[in-house]
Formats: sequence, structure tokens, C-alpha cells
Amino acid sequence: MSAAKFARPANSKSDRRERMTSNRNLTLGASVFYDPKWSCMDFCDYVTSRGIRWIEVKLEPVFYYSKINEDDVAQYLGELAKTVPVSIHALHLELNAGSVNPDVRQASLKGLKRSVDFAAKIGPGTIVTLHPGDNGEAPPSKYYEIRRNTIAVFKEVVEYARSLKVDISLENRGREGPGAYKYARTVEEISALRRELGCDVKYTVDAGHLTFLREDPCHYIRQLGPENVALAHIHNNDGTCDSHGATRRGLIDYEVFIKAYYEENWQFPLVIEVKRMDYLLESIEHLSGIWKTVTGQLGISNSESAC
Ligand SMILES: [Zn+2]
Repeated sequence: MSAAKFARPANSKSDRRERMTSNRNLTLGASVFYDPKWSCMDFCDYVTSRGIRWIEVKLEPVFYYSKINEDDVAQYLGELAKTVPVSIHALHLELNAGSVNPDVRQASLKGLKRSVDFAAKIGPGTIVTLHPGDNGEAPPSKYYEIRRNTIAVFKEVVEYARSLKVDISLENRGREGPGAYKYARTVEEISALRRELGCDVKYTVDAGHLTFLREDPCHYIRQLGPENVALAHIHNNDGTCDSHGATRRGLIDYEVFIKAYYEENWQFPLVIEVKRMDYLLESIEHLSGIWKTVTGQLGISNSESAC
């Protein structure tokens, strides 16, 4: 999974100097996962006190797993978003915009529009991440329908989001089991989907999902264009199971990734998308440590070359 084999774009000396002297910060975010010990609000308070500067909220826990009033959560997030940006991960469990079953597509459209409504309550410009559809158990002869159905449902969602000043972002899908097809895992498919929807639609690059394609996340981001990436989902796995584990353990070398993030001046936040608080805290420490090393090393080499 090394990025080293892929050529980086040539940077001019002045570009590089400008970046070296800029006070860039690493924007680390947290995906708010369900934990019975933490309400969504307590979770956000705690992780922002630990250096998190972007929050992404998955909606199933807010709407269905706890008794908390969703308007109270929206109001809290609206306040929080004045200082810490907040994005929304649309409802996705059991939904499938690509389904061959029209009832499932209708329920998916309803769930996605409801997700957009929630984002609109937080404020204009809130980003909503969508999962493209999959085949369920439909045979390969139906895969073109999965793509066509997803495009049709997403076009309605994007139109609706535009009317409410909410931004849409497409996430690359993860592991495919036997007989499974998930739309928009590859650069070719996800960029084709975006072309159908419009250039105001961005990408949520899930780095962990790329291990199942044996794809280097840096190369993937360069191909999509870093300026088109709204945020990245950061986690790690061993390439067999989409475990959403801590960043230190797995196929992705986050030292290589953070170095590219710094050197190529990527602006999007790195949202840690794990499922346990100890994984989240460990990943914050891991990524922050790499950032300090990378920025320190580059600062030293720059002053040496200036002599
Ligand atoms: Zn993800």
C-alpha cells in the first residue's frame, strides 16, 4: 500500500517554500459512533476537548438507537458548527438507492431526503455523505440497473439538497463479499456518478475501503483531484474485513499518507471513522505524532537547503 511508487506532481521551489512557512494545521475529525455510554452531545464535547476539529454524525444512532430528541441534537450541532464544522453521514443501513425493488428505492429516497432535512437544520453548507447503491443479491446482468437506479435516486436527492443549500458528497464503497456488487468503489465509477450529478457534488474518500481494491489512498485522491474531496474517512484494516480499526494497525501506511497530505497541501479534514473510543484516542495520538514528525522534518530540511 505504499504511495512511493506513484509519481508526485512536480512542485516549484516557491510553492514549496510557501507551504513550509505557512502555519498549516492537521484537521482531524471524528465520526460519532454509537456507544450507550455517550450521548451524541457528550461525545462531541469530549472529543473536541481532545483536539478534534471536525465532527461527522451518523444518523441511525441519533434517530433510532437512543431516546434523545433529534431537534435537540440538531440545535446542539448548529451551535457547535459555529466553531467546529459538522458533517452528516446520511442514513444508510438497510437502505439501497440501487435496489431492483422500487419500494426499497422509495424508502431509500425518503431516508436520504430526511438526512438532508436534518443537515439543513444545522446550517447552510452542511455536507451530507451518501453511500451509492449495491446489487443485494441481483445477478451480474442487473448491475447496469443498480447504477441507473442509484443515479436516478441521487439526482432527486441532489436537487433537493440544492434547494436547501446542503452539499452532497459521495463515498466510495467497501468490501464486496461473494456475489456482491457495490457501485462506485473505483475512481472510474465514482467519477462517472459525479459527472451525472454535477460538479458541486464532492467526494468522501474512505481510505480504509481502498484496501479491498489494493488501491493506494494517495493515488486515489490524486486521480479524483484533492480539490474535489470534501473529507476523508480514516481507519485501518488487514484487507480481509472492514473492521474500521485504529490507524496504526493495518495495510495503510499513514506515515506515507500524512506526508502526502502535508507536501501536497491537501485541505480536506481527516475524519477518523472507528467504532471504539480507545481506537479513536489512539488514532488521534498516532496521526498527531506523525504530523509533528513530518512537519518538523520538512522544516529542518528546508532551512538546511536555504543555507
Ligand atoms: Zn466511511
